[in-house]
Amino acid sequence: MNIILLGPPGAGKGTQAKRLETERGMIQLSTGDMLRAAVAAGTALGQKAKSIMEAGQLVPDDLMIGLISERLDQDDTKNGFILDGFPRTTAQAEALDVMLEKKGLKLDYVLQLVVDDAALTGRIVGRYTCAKCGKGYHDEFEKPAIDGVCDACGSTEFKRRADDNAETVMSRLEAYHGQTAPIIPYYKQAGKLKTVDGMAEIDEVTREIKAILG
Ligand code: ADP
Ligand code: ADP
Ligand code: ZN
Repeated sequence: MNIILLGPPGAGKGTQAKRLETERGMIQLSTGDMLRAAVAAGTALGQKAKSIMEAGQLVPDDLMIGLISERLDQDDTKNGFILDGFPRTTAQAEALDVMLEKKGLKLDYVLQLVVDDAALTGRIVGRYTCAKCGKGYHDEFEKPAIDGVCDACGSTEFKRRADDNAETVMSRLEAYHGQTAPIIPYYKQAGKLKTVDGMAEIDEVTREIKAILG
């Protein structure tokens, strides 16, 4: 099965994608993670993307489309993929349709995580991940069982994203409402859109998604 997780920054896309990976053997394709890896490695893409990401704006469509097209050609997508953070514009959504057709791949569902804007800042500012294995946490909503120790790998080192601050959140939300939300009708018309109550607790959101995917 191939799906898109759609929703504003902090909606829970990454959290749910990781659960689908573990439970279904699908692979999470997070364009945000790919860009952060490119920035850390100092590649040409990373150099172009760094300041754009720090400002909370969107990286140009041609770069993103090229990045995801190459990624879809790798073998680990064969058991199904979860697009997390792509597409984010109408141009990206249209280009995705064209590339999937060319590659002989099918999109099954677009799951829209619906969350009130007011809840997003708190989710983003409280977000952190394990520096070793990447497991996601939240200061309030998803704490490790033992304070300061990763549940998954036992590491005691954690990190926070440079763009997860209250100022950048405003630009990221603007980008979502102005440039990303307009793709919702596109998928509705295609009969692929399913909405999920992203305000529910993490486990409940997982259950809702399971009910849709079967
Ligand atoms: P996204 O990938 O959509 O930006 P994340 O999955 O990284 O969002 O979630 C943002 C933060 O909110 C994380 O710290 C995560 O632990 C927390 N979170 C995710 N889903 C929920 C939820 N349903 N309720 C409360 N907090 C959540
Ligand atoms: P979040 O999980 O909070 O929604 P992401 O990790 O998906 O954020 O993305 C972080 C940043 O990377 C975005 O604010 C944007 O600058 C850039 N980015 C990620 N995916 C895309 C995309 N498909 N198109 C344009 N920019 C992107
Ligand atoms: Zn860990």
